[in-house]
This record gives sequence, structure tokens and C-alpha cells, in this order.
Amino acid sequence: MVRVGVTGGIGSGKTAFCNILKKHGAYVLNADDLAKKIMAEDPAVKEELVDTFGRDSYKKDGRLNREYLAEQAFQNDRVEELNNIVHPRIPLKTEEIMEKAEQAGYEVFVYEAALLLQNLRPNHLDYIILLLADKEKRIGRVQQRDKVNKELVVDRMEHQQDFSTLKHLADIVIENNGSLQELEEKAERIYYDILTG
Ligand code: ATP
Repeated sequence: MVRVGVTGGIGSGKTAFCNILKKHGAYVLNADDLAKKIMAEDPAVKEELVDTFGRDSYKKDGRLNREYLAEQAFQNDRVEELNNIVHPRIPLKTEEIMEKAEQAGYEVFVYEAALLLQNLRPNHLDYIILLLADKEKRIGRVQQRDKVNKELVVDRMEHQQDFSTLKHLADIVIENNGSLQELEEKAERIYYDILTG
């Protein structure tokens, strides 16, 4: 099984790109989904979240109270505390899921994460793919996707590193400034290049 990391800034097209790989048969693991799964299921994490943020971190039926935790983290400026509980579990959990995907017969495993070149990098990734797109394009695309105003997107963008300075850390750089059709063609080519080594 080939292991691929896909990264890039907000609105660079990571999910769109990964969806194309998925269509061709790849197993895709999204880092945000993984973090939610860890918070929902890992007993040690659950205990730490309750100790740190209180009983309301989980609903009465035991499900994760995402709204409450998001409020605690973002409005009360405690994102780092939350990350310190969840992030250390990410690489190991990713590797566990990679193994299961391999056993299930997947030939390509894709880990999609904004924080991959900087940190939270699982071991044994064979290729890192970095998506880049012009700032204005990314802003426009996220505005359309999330129905939010420009300021909010720019603010989120400014909290991220400029990914164009990280090109040297990637094996493949995709400039996603063209149409979705062009992205699709690039992704297909890459998928089969990866598969055939
Ligand atoms: P985030 O970091 O916010 O999760 P992302 O990198 O996963 O963002 P996507 O959600 O894949 O980015 O892309 C942002 C939006 O732009 C989506 O609605 C997507 O369909 C659209 N998009 C991506 N690439 C293109 C393209 N080449 N042409 C037109 N729209 C695109």
C-alpha cells in the first residue's frame, strides 16, 4: 500500500483533490475527522477533556458535545489546551487506521491534513502532495463553499503559514488555479503514477 499525505492551506483544494483519489479507489483519512473520532472514542482523551473542560464536554447520552468544546476552545482562547490533549494521539491512531486499510486491501492510503509539513506527520508516508492556489482564488472558493464573508476567510488564512514557502518539503506540488476539470485530470495522473511507482 502506498501512503500519501495531502496538505495545503485553507481552500487550496485538499478535499476536492482527495475526493478524486477516493473515486479511483484510495482510502482517505481526514485529520479533522480523525480528531473528532479520537475525542468521541478514546477513553483517556475523554477523561482528560472532562477533567480540563468539565462534564459538559459530553452529552448525557455520552456523545461528544462539539458545540460546547468549540465554544470553550475558540471563545475562551483555549485551543492550545484542547490540541495538547488530542494532537499527541493523532500519529499513532493514523498508523493504526493505515494498517487496517492495508489489511482491507487498499492500494493507496491518503492522509489529508493542513498540519502535516509542520507537525502531526504520521510515520512512513511515501509521498507528500502540497496543493497551492492564489490567495484570491482560495478566498473566493471558501466564501462560496462556506457562505461566509471575506474577512473571516482572510483571518483564518492569516493564522496559517504561507504554504508556498514549504514547496521544498513536498514531493509533488499541485498548482490548483485552473478549473475543477483540470484538477481532476492532474489527480488522476498522479494517482496512477503513484500506483505504478
Ligand atoms: P479547508 O482547508 O478549508 O478544508 P480545502 O483545502 O480542503 O479547504 P476544498 O474544500 O477542497 O479546500 O476547496 C475549497 C472549495 O473550492 C470547494 O468548494 C471546492 O469544491 C472548490 N474548488 C477546489 N478546487 C477548485 C477548482 N480548481 N476550481 C473550482 N473550484 C474548486
